[in-house]
This record gives sequence, structure tokens and C-alpha cells, in this order.
Amino acid sequence: METPSSRSCGAAPIDSESEADQVTRSERTAVYPGSFDPITLGHDDIVRRSLKLVDRLIVTVAYTATQVKQPLFEVRERVELLERVYADEPRVEVSSFQGLLVDFARSMSAPIIIRGLRAVSDFEYEFQMALMNRSLWPEIEVIFMAPASQYTFLSSSLVREVARLGGRVADFVPPVVLDALIERVGPSVAGE
Ligand code: ADP
Repeated sequence: METPSSRSCGAAPIDSESEADQVTRSERTAVYPGSFDPITLGHDDIVRRSLKLVDRLIVTVAYTATQVKQPLFEVRERVELLERVYADEPRVEVSSFQGLLVDFARSMSAPIIIRGLRAVSDFEYEFQMALMNRSLWPEIEVIFMAPASQYTFLSSSLVREVARLGGRVADFVPPVVLDALIERVGPSVAGE
């Protein structure tokens, strides 16, 4: 009787194991890069969804590629906030990097990039970047993930803007970020 593994699907046989296959065979590691200034519940939604697909997720703050115009938190502070948000999640590792994302991903043996897609407007840039990254490291795969619908309008820049203007952002960021925002811009961000 034909077993599922013996069934022919017409695909070309895979005869040599690639660099990425060797890595993913033992542990599937992905990088989730961004500015994370600060991490929002939209980012967190993508992290939680990614953990259903990979064994280890490196959430990494990019120094240059996604440098925001008027940062609210220094890179070091963003890393600290991420570390506190994921303190109880051993599969999440937090870091920062300068230079090319693919070089960083390769150095971490992480042949998968995670990106969030909020709207069609994100798509063009993300698609260009995915193809560029693949031309720089052909082994890389990019996974685009859609967040829960209530986060599709949410961005760090919106949170920064509303917080700076004294608006309530309590529903959009993790509690540790809200505490940091209260310290940075005052209690109005908590709606008090
Ligand atoms: P932002 O655009 O909020 O400043 P980042 O540069 O930190 O975000 O984004 C890192 C990644 O997270 C990008 O792929 C971005 O599209 C994604 N992302 C940001 N906010 C959300 C959200 N609310 N829902 C889904 N993905 C998001």
C-alpha cells in the first residue's frame, strides 16, 4: 500500500542539504527586527503568533535601517523594555544590531525573518525589502504575519505621538511599557 511518504508529488528530489536546512533541522530560529520605539501590543501579537511557528525568536532592535526620526527611547532602553516584556518567555531572545539584517540573521543561525503586515500600505516596502534580503542571502525566508484586527491601525509612531501629546495609550502597550511612558511623559498616558 502506498504510504504518504512514498507518494509522488512531482516535485524535484532534494539531494543536498542547504545551510538553512541544516540549521532548521535541529531548531527553527527566526529574527523579528524593528525599531520597537516602544514595543506595542501589535508587535507582541506578532511575537505570540510567531512562537506557534518557530522554536526560538530573536526580537532585535535595528539601530540604523529603521531609525525613527524623533526617538522616544534609546536603543538600550528599548532592549531593556523588550527584555522585561519577555522575561517569562524563554523562547524569546532580545538583542540589537547595526548593519545588514541578513548578516545579523546569519550570525545568529536564523534563516527566517518575521515581519508584520498591517495594511496594503506596508506591503510594497516589505516586499522590496524581502527580495533584496533574499538576493543578499538566498537561504533566507521571510514570513509576513497579520495581527489581530484590533491592532492593524497601531504603530509605535502613533503611540509616541499620542503619548507626547498627553493622550491615553494604556490599551496599546504592555504594562511595563506603560510604566516607562508614565515616567517619561507623565501619568496622562495611563488616563489619569
Ligand atoms: P513601527 O512601524 O510601529 O514603528 P517597527 O519598525 O518597530 O514598527 O516594526 C517592526 C515590524 O513590526 C514591522 O514588520 C512592522 O510592520 C510590524 N508591526 C508594527 N506594528 C504592528 C502592528 N500593529 N501589527 C502588526 N505588525 C506590526
